[in-house]
Amino acid sequence: MTENNRKKIHTDLEVVQVGYANGVAPGFPLNDLQKQHMIEDATEAYGQFLTALGCDWKNDPNSSDTPRRVAKAYVNDLWKGRYTEMSEITSFPSDGYDGIVIERNIPLTSMCSHHHQTIGGVVHIGYVVGEGGRVIGLSKLNRIVEHFGRRGAIQEQLTSAIHQAVDKICENNRGIIVSIVGTHNCVSCRGVKHQGASMVTTKASGVFMDNDNQARKEFFDSIKINNGTHPV
Ligand SMILES: [Zn+2]
Repeated sequence: MTENNRKKIHTDLEVVQVGYANGVAPGFPLNDLQKQHMIEDATEAYGQFLTALGCDWKNDPNSSDTPRRVAKAYVNDLWKGRYTEMSEITSFPSDGYDGIVIERNIPLTSMCSHHHQTIGGVVHIGYVVGEGGRVIGLSKLNRIVEHFGRRGAIQEQLTSAIHQAVDKICENNRGIIVSIVGTHNCVSCRGVKHQGASMVTTKASGVFMDNDNQARKEFFDSIKINNGTHPV
């Protein structure tokens, strides 16, 4: 396979307004200096937040550096997808394969935009390669999940964002399906405080829209085998 057979995709995968918690930050992607300035500003602001909560964090040996830890965690990890560009996704000709591709149990770490509590879970992705279509390296699906998950999220919108990204990258596909099983800390730790509830969202297109389609059945059977439950 030569370099000419590869297709590199850089941009045009974002669907949410710039600046929103589930979108990218203004000026995206930020360089190292810009991230450092952001961490400085956020450190100062989080210190004020703790002070407002009656926390003498400056004199507490466990908390004196907490504002900086929190700021770094947001910029470098929790909201990384808002500031740091996803590495290039390369797609390849499918070379005659026209079947289904499924990746199950892609780990998801995200944060709900409403309460800024973490969301944990898994993402299942399936697609059917079309005639003359393209496939991507399996780990690229994980990268897409990381890119859109590592920011504020509304699970429904996150499902659509991942679906659209896979749809754009796997050209001439016959269908894409994305299913997210998420556990929201904002449900288990605050408000109703219920443990163990999970939220399932599924976005399908193409052949996966047809209830009688074999690929759709294969996708859900595949998830069922792994999780012991049928998600829809
Ligand atoms: Zn929430």
